[in-house]
Amino acid sequence: MQTIGLLGGTFNPIHFGHLRMAQELADSLSLSAVKFIPSANPPHKPPPQVSSEHRSAMVQLAITGNSQFQFDGRELSRAGASYTVETLESLRDEFGDSASLILIMGSDAFTKLNTWHRWQELIQLCHIALVQRPASTNKESLTKELETFLHNHYTEHVEDLHESSAGLITMQAITPLEISSTAIRQALQLKHSARYLMPENVLDYIAAKQLFSAVSA
Ligand code: ATP
Repeated sequence: MQTIGLLGGTFNPIHFGHLRMAQELADSLSLSAVKFIPSANPPHKPPPQVSSEHRSAMVQLAITGNSQFQFDGRELSRAGASYTVETLESLRDEFGDSASLILIMGSDAFTKLNTWHRWQELIQLCHIALVQRPASTNKESLTKELETFLHNHYTEHVEDLHESSAGLITMQAITPLEISSTAIRQALQLKHSARYLMPENVLDYIAAKQLFSAVSA
């Protein structure tokens, strides 16, 4: 069965935390591909100051040269809030039940999963791979509802994710990289460098387009 990782995000901007996590999961879960899916209108964040066109361009630059990584712009062409459940439905229409879809999520995002639109339907459409994010809240801070949800769907066996198309949750350890888009935006606003936090071609794009008030990245 084809096994596809899905990494949704604001990518405002994309950084090595995203890329390294995707690479490590591609390896540990033996993924056929990882799709990077920028959110046009993130439902749980203030509207990004940087347009979805720029954020997408940065994602495309960042994944250049990695044949396992794919850009997926389906949320950009939808009006209204970018709900993950609708993205998953659209992917299911495309792939049918023959593909295993694995939604990749930092632990910070998981603690708020029960606030997502139609959240209980998500697990019927995909598996979930949770990764621990440094400095984020951990399992203890899950609500009872989410703890039960995790318990009911949890598997220790990565192979299970290749044998069914949806319904399971795995937790994967990754190299902790304490990088966030927020910290990068703050650095750039102060005219500090964001080098070594993201690919050079993304830094060049930020400087050329003067995003995040960066005169020179
Ligand atoms: P912001 O700081 O603007 O909130 P972010 O750095 O959290 O942005 P997003 O685009 O919102 O980036 O993240 C997309 C996904 O990647 C989320 O599931 C998030 O948990 C995960 N993620 C982001 N940065 C890291 C990191 N350094 N390590 C592991 N996961 C990460």
